[in-house]
Amino acid sequence: MSETVDEVFRRVFGDRFEKTSSGCWLWRGRIQWDGYGEFAFSINGRQRRMQAHRAAWQLAHKRRAGRKLEICHTCDVRACINPAHLFEGTHSVNERDKVAKGRHVTPFGRVGERSIAAKLTDAQVLEIRRLAQDPATRFEALADDLGVSNTAVYQAAVGFTFSHLPCTPPPRRKRKAT
Ligand SMILES: [Zn+2]
Repeated sequence: MSETVDEVFRRVFGDRFEKTSSGCWLWRGRIQWDGYGEFAFSINGRQRRMQAHRAAWQLAHKRRAGRKLEICHTCDVRACINPAHLFEGTHSVNERDKVAKGRHVTPFGRVGERSIAAKLTDAQVLEIRRLAQDPATRFEALADDLGVSNTAVYQAAVGFTFSHLPCTPPPRRKRKAT
């Protein structure tokens, strides 16, 4: 018999979070300067800390989040650890689901907040480069998510721009799936 998310959360987090009527599960432990909850725990006698919402996402999904990926909030409440409000910073089926529900938040921000002169950040470029290692990743789709041009994504992916960041040249794109 496997534990439900609720049971796992209560076992690991105890009373360090509170479910609110808004649907958010607010972290009641320490809050970091940037507004995210901080989950402190010990492994083999060593104190560790991590973002509470990241811990929550990992617990709910039973796997580690990608090292360079952010765990993002659909609710914009940084202290919220409700796994239903959290998503890993990649394009996923869930994202498409949110599009369908009209509350689309891309891994990089809300589509509605796209600015005309959208610029990529270092974190976004690293994420683009990571995703670009998968030949199935389409630059156009990333550009769409980020609200920037295909050229901007391509140049960042191959290292023409943001040359101060590590870059492994992405594999060639196949023209057609075989
Ligand atoms: Zn929330």
